[in-house]
Amino acid sequence: MHPRFRFRAWILFLGLAAGLAGRGWAEEKPALVVVISIDQFRRDYLDRFRQHFGPGGFNLFLQHGADFADAHHRHSITKTGPGHAVMLTGVHADVNGIIGNDWLDRNTFEPISCVGDTSVENLGLPPGMKHVPGTENPYLGRSPKNLLVTTIGDDLKLDRGGRPKVIGISNKHRAAILMSGKSADAAYFMEFGRMTTSTYYMKALPAWVQEWNQAGKADACFGKVWERLLPAESYEIQGPDDAPGEDDTTGKLGRTFPKTITGGETKPDADFYDALENTPFYSELLLDFTKSAVEHENLGGRAGVTDLLCLSLSANDHCGHMYGPDSQEVMDLAIRTDRMLEQFFQFLDQRIGLAKCLIVLTADHGVSPMPEHIHALNPDVPAGRIEGGRLLAACEKALNEKFGPLADGTRWLVRDDMMLRIFPSALAEKKISSLQAQAVVRDAALTVDFVATAYTRDQLERGEAPGEYGAAALLSFNRERSGDLFVQSRPYYFIRKTGSNHGSPYNYDTHVPLLWYGVGVKPGVHPEKVGTDDLAPTLAHLLGLPAPPHSQGHVLF
Ligand SMILES: [Zn+2]
Repeated sequence: MHPRFRFRAWILFLGLAAGLAGRGWAEEKPALVVVISIDQFRRDYLDRFRQHFGPGGFNLFLQHGADFADAHHRHSITKTGPGHAVMLTGVHADVNGIIGNDWLDRNTFEPISCVGDTSVENLGLPPGMKHVPGTENPYLGRSPKNLLVTTIGDDLKLDRGGRPKVIGISNKHRAAILMSGKSADAAYFMEFGRMTTSTYYMKALPAWVQEWNQAGKADACFGKVWERLLPAESYEIQGPDDAPGEDDTTGKLGRTFPKTITGGETKPDADFYDALENTPFYSELLLDFTKSAVEHENLGGRAGVTDLLCLSLSANDHCGHMYGPDSQEVMDLAIRTDRMLEQFFQFLDQRIGLAKCLIVLTADHGVSPMPEHIHALNPDVPAGRIEGGRLLAACEKALNEKFGPLADGTRWLVRDDMMLRIFPSALAEKKISSLQAQAVVRDAALTVDFVATAYTRDQLERGEAPGEYGAAALLSFNRERSGDLFVQSRPYYFIRKTGSNHGSPYNYDTHVPLLWYGVGVKPGVHPEKVGTDDLAPTLAHLLGLPAPPHSQGHVLF
């Protein structure tokens, strides 16, 4: 039998088995739980590209699992750190502390990465490598220090005497670390095409990780060509390959297919790694590493023990930032992701048996259409690229007018993404309270054309955030870490010079897949609106764990 048909037959059988399990037929606990996040993967991709999916990738869930078709992130700042932090904790930044990917320290105003930790070191990175200016420092140590709560992985270990293995794997440190939690055996992430972790988890990389790195698999992608998987006509639903607004510079990948992955370098170096992360090869590498992890750590291989693998694919986010959700690149990567998942599930089936697995698939956030794409259809639809400097300038001007300029032309404010922070030194100089300044800053922000609403720290501390998106803002507000003014842009307005972005409470950013397959899952389509904060309590329920300490979400089954 052709392998694909053999697999299809397996899927049919397993779908039946999972259905029976869902009716209380099996009290068996899964040998392996796999929680998969696809970074920046909107729910509507599953419908838009569905006709091109194979039988065993996304269709494993869509045809044989449970599909919560209206699942949303409930918080406002829909970024990678906050999205991944909700998934397995069941709580938001107000409690878990992860308000963004990075933010400024409230007292020192120094930048903080959500998983940065100067007390630890990343392991196995070659010293002295250059990285692209303006990108994160690959040598900054990473740990879950800033995560204020436990994850399902932590709860699983606590409940089972520490026996379960919990491993996080992602191209991005924040995804691997925030999904897996405080007690994880490892959170592996990729820097310079090598997999690393930090001394938070272990003293040295395991031999199998060193071997994977020594094989030079990322560098072997140098010079590879990314071409469309399907015939070019299939991509016409996305519009032309070369569309206005697409990023033409990152990694020298250009705006059209085919794309040669060199970053413009003559050998693997910083710009090559920068190019690689936007391509399907980045996900192929990660899944290759993940298979190694399953084999060498024997995940799901011990009788009576449930292990947890947290996996996040980052290429979809990088590619989506470059080309936007309506690009041919994003479509091709989605279809290739489907094929990669199918291969990965076949691997799990052969090694462990899918009937012994529980697999969940979701995303940390969606993405906005590009303003240029919107305006090509209708220039009258409000959409645009924000200059953050204009917000800052309007608020500074209002403060100067109300209280008089500061000595030596000092600034009142600093912008921290879409938050503003007031310097205490300015308040001291003018002998005014923070409350007085906050009110002036809010009123000024509301006069800026791209601002939909703004909340002061005072309002959020009192839990008074009026308006349709107030509840989402409160979930993103952490009193120890957030700024003094929280600004929300209008729909289709974001900060980024080319390509697209995310980070709002609007549906294009919040609506994500929430798909379940395997042990304890009752197959079917669920149209009701649910939250990504329902994932953790549901997983706890299926695993027979106590509900996560802080979670307020619902058990979906
Ligand atoms: Zn992103």
